[in-house]
Amino acid sequence: MKDTFEREITYLRISLTDRCNLRCVYCMPPEGVKKRTRLLSLEEIWEIAREAVGLGIKKIRLTGGEPLVRRGMVSLCRELRRLPGLEELTLTTNALLLPRMAAELKGAGVDRVNVSLDTLDAEKYGRITRGGRLEEALAGIRAAREAGLTPLKLNCVLIGGFNDGEIPALASLAQEEPVEVRFIELMPMGEPPGFGPEAYLSCQAVLERLPGLERLPEDGGIAERYRQPGAAGTVGLIRPLSRCFCAQCNRIRLTADGRLKPCLHSREEIPVRGLHGEALRQQIERAIRHKPERHGALSAQLRSEAGRAMHQIGG
Ligand code: SAM
Ligand code: SF4
Repeated sequence: MKDTFEREITYLRISLTDRCNLRCVYCMPPEGVKKRTRLLSLEEIWEIAREAVGLGIKKIRLTGGEPLVRRGMVSLCRELRRLPGLEELTLTTNALLLPRMAAELKGAGVDRVNVSLDTLDAEKYGRITRGGRLEEALAGIRAAREAGLTPLKLNCVLIGGFNDGEIPALASLAQEEPVEVRFIELMPMGEPPGFGPEAYLSCQAVLERLPGLERLPEDGGIAERYRQPGAAGTVGLIRPLSRCFCAQCNRIRLTADGRLKPCLHSREEIPVRGLHGEALRQQIERAIRHKPERHGALSAQLRSEAGRAMHQIGG
């Protein structure tokens, strides 16, 4: 289905939970989720997804919080993958639970995963995730590869003064293997996490540190894509601060507590809990029609108008 600006909306991101087994400083408060959230049941999520697929959604990504901590999520994957018309089912995950879940997820029909990895330094990984262990994330990435949840994409939030010195090392993960290393500009969401203005670094820094990058043709996604000479994989730049990609936006989001968000950076939310059949379909259509043309500018000073922190929306 098209929105009012002629964008074909084909991608639904579903947050399965606002909880997580990490506490990344740019995403979650240190104490985690204090209040109990009334989560949609897995059956409700499936019903909403089915209606959305009926309206032209072709790709679903499960996210969170951490999607792998939601009990029963493998069965949900199996049911989602059977929806006629769905072409791709993916996950965004911190990978910590992949060593025990990757094969099962592949068996349930998950096509591939994106894994978040901001640093290759164990001490820094512990700091940015507030307690995570790098070796566990790397084991999860290996498990994803072995299970065939590929091509892998590695999401790296670029944070000035924290990991900009690691741009070449992170990009080199795409040298031998056909993965996409994606640098994502840090978005000013939720409570200010105590980053100074230098943290909100433009992806221009990646182009400056890697002068050999060759631009690849657009693939319809939101990332600018590049290749290093001789590399098996690619480098992607996602630039919500330095280059607005709203004209290419093809997605809507479902929060874990049952609200559709037409735009990540807008307060507008459309409740769908308790709706069925025609009423549910009409509400999803409303969310698609309500997609704004673009969101307001984002910077160290101009914070997102999302009205929620990232772990409550799903990225
Ligand atoms: N827990 C999973 C993970 O980390 O991959 C999925 C949920 S997480 C909210 C989804 C993505 O959002 C991750 O790649 C994370 O790095 C990114 N993210 C979270 N907060 C962000 C922020 N303030 N700016 C940019 N990216 C952010
Ligand atoms: Fe958890 Fe992902 Fe947020 Fe980190 S970015 S706290 S892993 S939801």
